[in-house]
Amino acid sequence: MSTPLVFNIQKFSTHDGDGIRTTIFFKGCPLRCEWCHNPESQNYGKEMILHRHKCTACGGCVKACPVCANTIVDGKLVFDRDKCIACGECLDWCIPQAREIAGKEYTVKELVTAIKKDLTFYERSGGGVTLSGGEVMAASDLDYVVNLCKAIKREGISVFIDTSGYCTYERLQKVMPYADCFLYDIKEINPELHKKYIGVDNKTILENLVKLSNDGATIYLRLPVIPGRNGSDEDMRSIIAFLEENKVRLKQINLLPYHDIGRGKYAGLDRPYDEEGTMTVPPKDEMERLKAMFEEHGFHNIKIGG
Ligand code: SF4
Ligand code: SF4
Repeated sequence: MSTPLVFNIQKFSTHDGDGIRTTIFFKGCPLRCEWCHNPESQNYGKEMILHRHKCTACGGCVKACPVCANTIVDGKLVFDRDKCIACGECLDWCIPQAREIAGKEYTVKELVTAIKKDLTFYERSGGGVTLSGGEVMAASDLDYVVNLCKAIKREGISVFIDTSGYCTYERLQKVMPYADCFLYDIKEINPELHKKYIGVDNKTILENLVKLSNDGATIYLRLPVIPGRNGSDEDMRSIIAFLEENKVRLKQINLLPYHDIGRGKYAGLDRPYDEEGTMTVPPKDEMERLKAMFEEHGFHNIKIGG
């Protein structure tokens, strides 16, 4: 079992739960949301992000690379991603910092030390730490995640778990004693559309949500809204019906409007992203209208955004 890799430690985050938080993003996810804004979160291993616009074709990485993944052809860098073993040897040779490796191992102690630096901010704002991804609940070494949660709680710091719920319920049960809240996504309620846009069935996700609620977990439900993909009135009505039928208890609902700030990261990973531009940012009044749909059904504490 390998230690889950971290690809970002976001300090002073105000979008991943209550107050000011440190969000730790782990690599690796079994889902493939078409609109994922952290594509470097999807694979479990380390990988090179190449910021081509910064590259001056100096050839430093050509000399540094032990597996000859870089060549200069006609004055331009050609990078062979299939050869790259993400060893990082080329990073120091790249003066314009066109290269970065996504994914780093940390011990629990190292993470807790980093987290504790902002203790005063958590205390003053009612914040804490959010473990996110990727899918932290699908980490191969779940004991690491549990130990991290325990260590953070020992410091008196709140722990939120940001999850798609796509894992066994036993995994959720293991972190539940240390999780103050689950930020839980329903990305799409229709099973066929879920398979189409996210790559997997949503049966487990919906079942786990009901189980968490029945077991008394605090849940903030998060509903990403991507016009042309999900968030239709029919979708929202089905989500409301599901929540009502299953008596799912929610402390908060967050309607998350689509944004495309991850687009540039896809280029850095040599992956395509919505090349036809069919995903658009929903207008503010549309988000307000969706919010009202939930309010009409008696749901409260509904926020637009994270
Ligand atoms: S990370 Fe290592 S293998 Fe990949 S391009 Fe750089 S030196 Fe080569
Ligand atoms: S070292 Fe950096 S700037 Fe130089 S060729 Fe490689 S990627 Fe480009």
